[in-house]
Amino acid sequence: MLMKQRQIIFTDAGMFRKEILEMKNQYSECMAMIQIFYDKARQTEVEQMIAILKQDWPKAHYYGCASNANIKNGMIVEGSVMAVCTVFEDETTQIEVYQYALTNETQKAVCDDLLEKVSARPWVKGIELLITIRDMSTTYFCDRLSEMDENIQIFGGSSFNKNLDRLDVGVFSEKGDFLDAGVVFVLIGGQRLHIRSTYITGWKPLGQKMLITRAEANRLYELGGEPAYDTYYRYLQIDNDEFFYHNTLEFPIFYERNGINILRVPSMCMEDGSLIMTSDMTTGSMAQISYGDPQTILKSIFHEAESLADFVPDGIMIFDCASRRSFWGKEDINRESLPFQTIADTAGFYTAGEFHRFGKSLNQHNVTLVIVGMREDDAGSSNKSKLLKTFNYNNEHVSMVRRLANFIDVASHELDETNQKLEAVNQKLLKMAVTDELTGTFNRREIQSRITEAAAKHEKFSLIMLDLDNFKKVNDTYGHDEGDRVLKEFAAVMKKAAEAASYPVSVGRWGGEEFMILAEQANTAQAFVLSEKIRTDFAAVVFEISGQHTVSCGVAEIHENETADALCTRVDHILYESKHLGRNRTSIENSET
Ligand code: GH3
Ligand code: MG
Ligand code: MG
Repeated sequence: MLMKQRQIIFTDAGMFRKEILEMKNQYSECMAMIQIFYDKARQTEVEQMIAILKQDWPKAHYYGCASNANIKNGMIVEGSVMAVCTVFEDETTQIEVYQYALTNETQKAVCDDLLEKVSARPWVKGIELLITIRDMSTTYFCDRLSEMDENIQIFGGSSFNKNLDRLDVGVFSEKGDFLDAGVVFVLIGGQRLHIRSTYITGWKPLGQKMLITRAEANRLYELGGEPAYDTYYRYLQIDNDEFFYHNTLEFPIFYERNGINILRVPSMCMEDGSLIMTSDMTTGSMAQISYGDPQTILKSIFHEAESLADFVPDGIMIFDCASRRSFWGKEDINRESLPFQTIADTAGFYTAGEFHRFGKSLNQHNVTLVIVGMREDDAGSSNKSKLLKTFNYNNEHVSMVRRLANFIDVASHELDETNQKLEAVNQKLLKMAVTDELTGTFNRREIQSRITEAAAKHEKFSLIMLDLDNFKKVNDTYGHDEGDRVLKEFAAVMKKAAEAASYPVSVGRWGGEEFMILAEQANTAQAFVLSEKIRTDFAAVVFEISGQHTVSCGVAEIHENETADALCTRVDHILYESKHLGRNRTSIENSET
């Protein structure tokens, strides 16, 4: 083990100086990095620490931020000022600290500058960032930093305070003063330095997926077409009062970005029902309310701790969301950080937002736990066996929540299924409403309304009216059943010919043994061809019982300003012409005269 760590809770200048000098004397040759996480109300004590560091260990790098609470040896320490002092014994390990003022206006210049610095320093393996996010959207910032070499890991957290006030935050470093809107980057690398970073949520989606119908940057206006706040009120009965943030943070929104699920918490509700989210969301993405499931969280943590144990880190950093504290409550919050302490010394702080690079993309998370293991030189043997199976969590209140959440999951799943079945029935009913039962062609009402619609469009179309010849005789001679068979077969012949046409064709039963065909976009000549195909195809069919049959047809193309009714009457007359001329033929307009 080459990398060493000491975590110091500040009580007074004397003790701090003593601890620092001890560390410095023991590791005088080493690269040293001192992270300071502090209760915002105690900033003056941090100033004392800085003075001591400058005087007694000027070679040590230092930086830090205000936090909601700190994590020392895997356990929460509230209202504290903590220094995490890490020394690297490998002579190639390097650290550089940069600090920038950060606002919407400066972020481009900040990213440009950092990208340039990093590309000029091929030794960089990881970048820790401490940032104030306040009301700034970090999307641009994250996207720009995603441009750097994919092998560089990026992780960190955003500054916060005890009272969950998103504006009362701050960062500082050896490079400058305390900034209430700023960012500190710590570049770290070395030939034998290894970093492993990951993130865990453990939150599970609950109920229906909703479409984000309107969002601009971090302001979420509408979910599923209604004000975003209404969703919180309807499902969770969360009032828009001063406790809004405290109440919603256990029910963040699941949101997909860069192919992974990210959690977003509404931090404020506006008068128009829109919500200010902890970071950006995009119109058109899907969102879902989620809830924390202790069992899932603890299983994820155990799983991650196992993998990290195989990595055999010398030290572990944790950036844990302050909202997870509210979720677990005072008693149980250590359940998610303490397992890591069994692997290596674990320190960190409670944040207002967590940063982690997954693949190429850097994302700002919320309600998430970012875990970073570091070691110098080759891994020793895994200390996985020391891990306790900490996920056997039994708590009456939690098990009730778990069961209810499961109930909602199953109920909404069943509702989905019922809706799908209803939809299928609806489709069937709709089809029945427009179909003639015997022949499967459209019924009179449907074909008539299609003709009326076509006439209203003032586009070219033609009608073919068809009437079976001497059909009464078929019934009289062979019975009604044979008559029905002939009708069905005739319908099949019409439908087949209709499908083969190069223009849209609707076939409908006009009544009895009369049919009407609407040939959209077809002129008289085209409709005549279709009619003749149907007539000859049908004439060729030989029925087992009744032999062959014929049909008479009339074709008419719509005239300018002609009504649908007038056209139907006209085509009926043209059809009569065919009957008059001896049946089994198609008549067109001209033969009328
Ligand atoms: P034409 O060549 O002049 O059209 O002679 P036709 O016998 O076909 O004319 P008519 O209108 O006199 O007879 C139509 C017959 O169609 C009367 C009726 O029994 C029969 N018909 C109407 N609907 C159905 C039905 O759904 N099933 C059966 N089997 N026959 C039907
Ligand atoms: Mg008839
Ligand atoms: Mg007839």
